[in-house]
Amino acid sequence: MSLSFNDVVRILAEGKIPSPRLEARILFEYLEVDQFAPVDGAQEVRLRELLRKRLAHAPLDKILGKREFYKNTFAVSKDVLTPRPDTEVLVEAAIELIPKKIPQKILDLGTGSGCILLSVLGDCPKACGMAVDKSEAALAVARHNAEALGMSNRVTFMNASWLDADFEEHVGVGFDIIVSNPPYIPTSDILTLEPEVRQYDPILALDGGKDGFEHYQKIAELAPHLLKQGGYILLEAGQGQAQRIAEIFEHEGLHLSEIRPDLSGIERCVILKK
Ligand code: GLN
Repeated sequence: MSLSFNDVVRILAEGKIPSPRLEARILFEYLEVDQFAPVDGAQEVRLRELLRKRLAHAPLDKILGKREFYKNTFAVSKDVLTPRPDTEVLVEAAIELIPKKIPQKILDLGTGSGCILLSVLGDCPKACGMAVDKSEAALAVARHNAEALGMSNRVTFMNASWLDADFEEHVGVGFDIIVSNPPYIPTSDILTLEPEVRQYDPILALDGGKDGFEHYQKIAELAPHLLKQGGYILLEAGQGQAQRIAEIFEHEGLHLSEIRPDLSGIERCVILKK
């Protein structure tokens, strides 16, 4: 007997997938299968393949190759961190800080899918940005997203690592705003993350070194050189990290402007001014 919609819901629920009915609806929609009609043979093969991946805890967005974030849909792949709603608070804060009538230069450190920079540019039509990533594969995803959203002409892509000595020469100076969601999970915590994250988000985007603060430290040393006087840096923080991040950047001469909570009340975005 062929699979029905309710069978799929049950299979997902038995696999301990949260919101099984919602996910079943998304899978049916993705395959353009009518959830009220009998599933035919070819559809069933495709459905079972998606279920196999999801039951192995591949996150839904990585299976579908796309994810909603802020106001747009972004292409994602194994090479980029899945955009998370927690990060939207950083996007909102950056947009509030950017004057809308004059051109602004925005730098995104570790752009991944490009979701932060492209969301900010979407609401700030006069701004342009530089998207930096150490991973060429991630930059390809960001480039694709910029094209899909019609913003390629406002973004420069740069394959570089802020750990490299000549980073500043590569990216240049005079940025009005820096945004970054750097890797911040302490190396020893990575094994404790849920499989959706541990196995399907790139380790490069997660591993924050021994104490989780290694990349913040490096970015803090660079930021005063990269920013214009009066410019801002907005950083995503892991849970419980915000105060220490503020101290690291204050030690390099920046001034704490605000620590903003995400929608769960976690101190998620640290904002400092030069
Ligand atoms: N927010 C991600 C998580 O908790 C981590 C992202 C990062 O290291 N920047 O899984």
